[in-house]
Amino acid sequence: MLRALVADLLIDGTAAEPVKAGALTYDSGSIVDVGPVDEIVREGIEVRHFPGGTILPGLTDSHLHLGLDGEGSFEMGMLKDLTSYAAIRAYEYARRDLHSGFTTIRAMADKGFIDVGLQRAIRDGLVKGPRIISSGHMLCITGGRDSYVPGVSFSDNLFEECDGIDGVTRAARRQVKYGVDWIKLGVTGAVSAGEGPPGVQQLTEAEIRAAVVVAHGQGKKVAAHAHGAAGIKAAVRAGVDSIEHGWLADREAVDMMAAAGTYWVPTLAPLHLILLHGVEGGIPPSVVERTRRVQHNMYEVFSYGLRCGVPMVMGTDVGMPYNRHGENAVEFDLMVKAGMLEKDAIVSACSRAAEMFGLEGVIGQLSPGHSADIVVVEGNPLEDIGALARTRFVAKDGWIVRDDGFGE
Ligand SMILES: [Zn+2]
Repeated sequence: MLRALVADLLIDGTAAEPVKAGALTYDSGSIVDVGPVDEIVREGIEVRHFPGGTILPGLTDSHLHLGLDGEGSFEMGMLKDLTSYAAIRAYEYARRDLHSGFTTIRAMADKGFIDVGLQRAIRDGLVKGPRIISSGHMLCITGGRDSYVPGVSFSDNLFEECDGIDGVTRAARRQVKYGVDWIKLGVTGAVSAGEGPPGVQQLTEAEIRAAVVVAHGQGKKVAAHAHGAAGIKAAVRAGVDSIEHGWLADREAVDMMAAAGTYWVPTLAPLHLILLHGVEGGIPPSVVERTRRVQHNMYEVFSYGLRCGVPMVMGTDVGMPYNRHGENAVEFDLMVKAGMLEKDAIVSACSRAAEMFGLEGVIGQLSPGHSADIVVVEGNPLEDIGALARTRFVAKDGWIVRDDGFGE
């Protein structure tokens, strides 16, 4: 059955001009037509009006964790939970993301392949939820990330230690065997774990390249968790598809991302939220201290990245302290405060994310033939980016996930 949505504004998720008094039609799972209301809406079509609203493509959060929901002291808790419990909880977290308008989410490392399992259950129609892009475990060097949780079994872990070209090759192949879409690499230290400076390079360039060879050879992609400039540069040279965080990048690293067209998922939300809640909020002092030390550099390189046209993609790192499922839109505010135009922030969570996933033509754009992944928010996000937190209607593949009755 053909249905129509009509609102004051329609933003198609690309750099195209928004359509005032815009409308779209969709049938069971796909968008049929998009344009001005008087060209699109004909007699006999069921029409839903949203005066004061904006129609957008379903949004994408390209970096979150399904095993966590913003606990102050997080990774240990995540590892201590039963994997079966974490999997059921992940379903609820994914549902919260979807309800807030994120019809696609990329899980960037979780324990026990809960992201892969949930993705399958949704694909098989066992349960309903967002489109999930999975990454399984994060590959890191021995002692890199999980040296402080000895004795956790392979399948219950969040990390997989591997060393040398052969070791990384084997580990990457094992991730592919378990069904991941992306290989996540812990290229440098982290703000959230360990004691050393977060910028130190851990995986070598040859090890990163070994993972890239496995992934690309099997039609998969590679995301590099990387803070320090040396690690970012090694990852870009090795051909990874995305850099996650990059908080200690220098200008040369940013130039290299721009030249290679490497996607950058800067994740400003954890930076902001860790400092906002601090030690008083139960966040380990070492995490707060290391975050404080990197923040100035991050905002500086972020604005440099905007000037050189690095392809930036919206990702929240939901799961980190006080960074919660369903509150993902906070990242948009921070991107705009840091100098990004509202329209570019929207593109970063729509068509550009689709391009990073190789899902152009499927998601991220309101255009005939694309999936009917649709969001309506109250207000105009081009004038007030906070409107993206005021989700009033969500459809995924034409299934109406949420309709608050707004505007009627
Ligand atoms: Zn993360």
